[in-house]
Amino acid sequence: MRILVTNDDGIEAEGIRHLALVAAQFGTVKVVAPDRERSACGHAMTMRDPLRVKETDFHGLEGYIVNGLPVDCVNVALTVAWPDGCDLVLSGFNNGPNLGFDATYSGTVAAAMEGRINGIRSIALSMCVFADGAPFHYETGSKWLEENWGWLTALDLPELTFLNVNVPALAWPEIEGHRFVAMGRRVYEDRVERREDPWGRPYYWQGGVVVMRPDMVGTDVWAVTNGYVSVSPLSLDWTNAEALARLVSGAKAAT
Ligand code: MN
Repeated sequence: MRILVTNDDGIEAEGIRHLALVAAQFGTVKVVAPDRERSACGHAMTMRDPLRVKETDFHGLEGYIVNGLPVDCVNVALTVAWPDGCDLVLSGFNNGPNLGFDATYSGTVAAAMEGRINGIRSIALSMCVFADGAPFHYETGSKWLEENWGWLTALDLPELTFLNVNVPALAWPEIEGHRFVAMGRRVYEDRVERREDPWGRPYYWQGGVVVMRPDMVGTDVWAVTNGYVSVSPLSLDWTNAEALARLVSGAKAAT
C-alpha cells in the first residue's frame, strides 16, 4: 500500500512522527509536510508564490518539507513523491481536536479533503486535548490506528467522502472503543478579545471560549466526551439535498 502522510502542525510536530511510524507497518510511507505550523488554514492553497520542496530523511522514511499549506503538500506529493498516485492519505495526528465546525477551519481535515478530491482514500486524525499542558497521548492514537487499520483502510465509502477521526487524549485503558458519529457542535464564543499594546494602541486576539454540545448524542463531540474515538464520514458535496429539493419544488409551485 502506497501511503502519503501529511499534517498541518508542520514536519517537526510530534503527531506526524507517531502517525507515519504506525502507517509504515502497513505499507510504504512517504511524508510530505509543511515546514512550519499551519493550523487553522482551512482548505487554502498557495497560488501566488512558488513552492519549494526539500528532501529529508524522516525517521528512516522518505520525507519532503514544503514551504506551503497542507493542501499544497498533498498536491506537491502527487507530483514529487507519488507521481503515479497513492492508495491512502493520512493527515495528523493533529495536536488538538477537530470536532464539529473545527473541521471547516482545520488544515488537518483540509489535507484529507484534498486527498479525496484526488480520488484517494483519505483520513484526518486528531488528538482531543481540551486543557493547556495536558498530555496529547499520541501513543493512544497510534495504538487505536494500529488495531483498527484493517477495516479503516478498507471501508467502502461513497464518492467524495473521507473520514474525520478524533481520539480522546486519554491513556489507552481509558478508551471505551469507537463510535460512528455525525459532525457535532463546537463553537467559539467571545471570540475576539480587544487588548492594548504598550503604546496604548488596540489590537485584537482571536480564539475565544469553546462551547461544545456533548448532550447531542451521536455526534463527534458526544463520542469524544464519553471516551470514544469518533469516526465521522464527511462529504465534499456541501449541497443540502433536502433544502435543494424544497427549493426546486417551491420554484415549480411558483411557475
Ligand atoms: Mn494543527
